[in-house]
Amino acid sequence: MVLEPICCPACHTPDVVKNGKSDEGKQRYRCRNTKCSRASFIRDYTYQVSVDHKELRQGLNR
Ligand SMILES: [Zn+2]
Repeated sequence: MVLEPICCPACHTPDVVKNGKSDEGKQRYRCRNTKCSRASFIRDYTYQVSVDHKELRQGLNR
């Protein structure tokens, strides 16, 4: 398992802490940056999925 840094989508600080789970069972995080307007967020997997698809396409083109 690869540990990836979790960053706040609003201020991009990696200084975040886990904050329970959402109703959908997704990991929720809380931004510890006091100047950030975003108190909590749910990790978005959309970016990871697009990267996976890109790698898949490159593999098929080879
Ligand atoms: Zn933030």
